[in-house]
Amino acid sequence: MFEQFRVKPDQPVRLSDFDANGKTYFAGSKDEAKQQFKPLNLKLRELQTLLYAQGKHNLLLVLQGMDTSGKDGTIRGVFKGVNPQGVNVANFKVPTPKELSHDYLWRVHQQTPGKGEIKIFNRSHYEDVLVVRVHSLAPEERWSKRYHHIREFERLLADEGTTIIKFFLHISNDKQRDKLISRRDTPRKQWKFNPNDLKDRALWPDFQQAYEDALNKTSTEYAPWYIVPANQKWYRDLMVATILVETLENLQMHYPPAPEGIEEMEVI
Ligand code: AMP
Ligand code: MG
Repeated sequence: MFEQFRVKPDQPVRLSDFDANGKTYFAGSKDEAKQQFKPLNLKLRELQTLLYAQGKHNLLLVLQGMDTSGKDGTIRGVFKGVNPQGVNVANFKVPTPKELSHDYLWRVHQQTPGKGEIKIFNRSHYEDVLVVRVHSLAPEERWSKRYHHIREFERLLADEGTTIIKFFLHISNDKQRDKLISRRDTPRKQWKFNPNDLKDRALWPDFQQAYEDALNKTSTEYAPWYIVPANQKWYRDLMVATILVETLENLQMHYPPAPEGIEEMEVI
């Protein structure tokens, strides 16, 4: 259903070819999208229970996007009602001095999911080819080698049994302006207003270029990127939930077998 949004290896995409508006792609109304979302959310709850019970597979979900693209909202919306046991979020902020004293994947590898777990990366190792590149926090000679490291790092995870899906939440420049104004002017949202976001906004074209390169250089069969039109949160959540459910269903999980002779065991 959302195949057109998957970045295929060796078929480079241009971000400007993707409309950030869900309405362009979804013929139904917002209410219809919400109706479609509900059963998916129930399925996700069931599949997560199964993943946890079976303890065989693990899933890594990477969320990236510009400031205000809705990374936090996606986590809240898509995982609504999912048992918090077995689902964890790792937030990657500006690295601490200790983190900076190691290679950039050091802090990331520690956060990857164990068996039976779903791990959501709210930002990720991709910051090291995005913000680091745009703000020249490392010389090009260093960050340019990282696409290769990242492909191989993700291959290692996949080879060892981790299922990986990566979502780029694609919003338009105008949408970001509206959201920043809303954060600035709404008291209960002001805590989220970070003056540094304005500096990043001024570098919008550079970030779009850095994202485009990251998507094209690191979308693989084993760790695909999806470009999610994210101006409308109902479309965003519908798409993320659909792909997530499909991915989990493909694992063909089963509940572990019951202990032998369970029927005869007397419960006193
Ligand atoms: P937020 O996700 O809005 O709370 O902001 C976290 C900030 O940390 C963002 O501005 C990111 O760009 C920044 N950040 C995350 N990872 C890195 C990194 N490896 N190097 C520099 N800045 C980073
Ligand atoms: Mg920022």
